[in-house]
Amino acid sequence: MECPECGANLTIPDDASVGEIISCPDCGADYEISKKDGSNVELKQAESVGEDWGE
Ligand SMILES: [Zn+2]
Repeated sequence: MECPECGANLTIPDDASVGEIISCPDCGADYEISKKDGSNVELKQAESVGEDWGE
């Protein structure tokens, strides 16, 4: 699985389930598993809630 943002390799745990959040170790982007069918995993951009640090 590649990070759609920076192309880094994202590791999806075998037992990860739909709705889990995967963070890219490279750019820090958060993705939510929207679909999982065996080794076929689809990611969607996680809702960026609470990103307004230090306001
Ligand atoms: Zn990334």
